[in-house]
Amino acid sequence: MTYVIAEPCIDVKDQACVDVCPVDCIHEAGRILVIDPEECIDCGACEPECPVEAIFPEDALPAKWQAFVGINAAYGQGVDAVDALVTAYSGEHSS
Ligand code: SF4
Repeated sequence: MTYVIAEPCIDVKDQACVDVCPVDCIHEAGRILVIDPEECIDCGACEPECPVEAIFPEDALPAKWQAFVGINAAYGQGVDAVDALVTAYSGEHSS
């Protein structure tokens, strides 16, 4: 399993989570921070640090934000892949 950063982080990117992650697996993309699921050790240290409650264990992620599993995992393909998915998600969820 992994932890997942969801929609509340978009355009916020507070960074408090980055400071506490023991394995430095939280990375900055264009409009959001993402957790690399390949690196996350599932320690949970980041979750209470987030001021906008954007971080969830994958099995507790609200259904409306399931797209963020893929958005975080896209970090494996690079920041550009994350940004493309965030742009697509924002387009689908505007208005
Ligand atoms: Fe880092 Fe732990 Fe959060 Fe995973 S759960 S992103 S290892 S602080």
